[in-house]
Amino acid sequence: MVRIWGAIFLVASLWLLPAPAPAEQGKGAAGDYRHRLEPTPHGWPRLRQWCVWIEPVAAIGPAARWDQAWLKAVEAALASWGELVAISRAGSPEQAQVKLLRRRPPLQGGRASHGRAELELASVQRGGETLLEPRVRVSISPGQRAEAIQATALHELGHAFGLWGHSDQPLDAMAAVPGPTPILALTGRDRATFLWLQQQPGLGGQEGTADPGQAPCGP
Ligand SMILES: [Zn+2]
Repeated sequence: MVRIWGAIFLVASLWLLPAPAPAEQGKGAAGDYRHRLEPTPHGWPRLRQWCVWIEPVAAIGPAARWDQAWLKAVEAALASWGELVAISRAGSPEQAQVKLLRRRPPLQGGRASHGRAELELASVQRGGETLLEPRVRVSISPGQRAEAIQATALHELGHAFGLWGHSDQPLDAMAAVPGPTPILALTGRDRATFLWLQQQPGLGGQEGTADPGQAPCGP
């Protein structure tokens, strides 16, 4: 059973136009941007293992070439994060904690973006326990060059896996404002920030070392 809590807690978009620079919230450790991350009111939305569903794309027909290019770029971004956290593929969207959708995000406040990640928290029954889990919907626009799709997916998946905040360094995958060159690989700062996040208590105060009862892609 999955109960989605109504509110969307955190939304992050890769805007086509630069956003105003956010105010600095004090200095974090050198070499990462942990101080720019935001938890939910129920804790850090991080997991040891994520179940990801990717919207199916056409394998044949006139759209297949573009669909397959989108899929390849998204898979490459997923593989980058897969070096840092366990990722399983879900057979259906209902099982997934992250849903990757092939679509352009709708305008938000009149502003366009290539990618968006939206976080909800779900109350999930697993093995007789009620757990709080993240549920993230990620929209990646297919209307970009392949490298830009990959960079967008790398960035939005960073949000999905718990990095709800932005780096102030333009070469990081989680840069607030994308530079002219697509960022296709995680930097040392991206990795250090993510590894710090993974050591924090999860939703509902779960310990940093284990998420009790969490099945990879089970019902
Ligand atoms: Zn972002």
